[in-house]
Amino acid sequence: PDTDALLTVDGVTVAYGQQVALRDVSLTVRRGSVTALLGPNGAGKTTLLRAVAGLQRPRSGRITFDGATITTRPVHARVRAGVCLVPEGRGVFRNLTVRENLLAQLPRSPRSRDIGPALEAFPDLAGRLSQAAGTMSGGQQQMLALARCYLSNPSVILLDEVSMGLAPLVVDQIFDSIGRLAAQGISLLLVEQYVDRALDLADHAYVLNRGEIAFAGAARDLSREALLADYLGVE
Ligand code: ATP
Repeated sequence: PDTDALLTVDGVTVAYGQQVALRDVSLTVRRGSVTALLGPNGAGKTTLLRAVAGLQRPRSGRITFDGATITTRPVHARVRAGVCLVPEGRGVFRNLTVRENLLAQLPRSPRSRDIGPALEAFPDLAGRLSQAAGTMSGGQQQMLALARCYLSNPSVILLDEVSMGLAPLVVDQIFDSIGRLAAQGISLLLVEQYVDRALDLADHAYVLNRGEIAFAGAARDLSREALLADYLGVE
């Protein structure tokens, strides 16, 4: 076994009724690494992140984290173990304040109800604790979604298109933030439409196409041109 492996997906198949979304997919996220998961719309990227997070039960295959099999463990157990998902669309509670959103991530026991670490890592949120999350900009909401994950003290963060719908300048800020998380040693599994930015940050890359792995290797071996032409169908 790969002793560097933090998270492994081993021969995972996921289907929605008759529709197979992932077929025999295997992938490894190494400790302290950034892994990009790329591919066209409908390739199964979100499904893979949801299977790892515990939101989607595989039909077959195995998922291991930190040496333990987690294939059928519930979401909260995975969060406690150190696996956290920033979902597509961010998943913040729009009607709750920033403080309430952060507290919602923490266990109920008072001793651990300290949102300080999230505010240190995402200082822009500190001045907005009483603001309803839904009244913030898209970029600020995305920062809040990242901060929530960060509060659970994750070893790996699964990021589903964190740049979606954001202006380029804001995308830069988000990528700076996730770069800082990576620099702290948190592993990242990154689904991203901004291929260049993802490959800049990533050590390893996988391309999913129609539910199957079409490329696996070093991020630097995956050229943007090849990716666009071979997998995303852009000439
Ligand atoms: P996108 O970039 O569009 O989000 P994706 O690579 O994340 O695409 P998935 O969302 O994982 O792909 O979808 C993979 C396949 O599974 C698609 O064919 C999709 O239509 C199908 N699918 C996804 N979710 C469901 C669901 N809840 N019920 C039925 N089919 C689904």
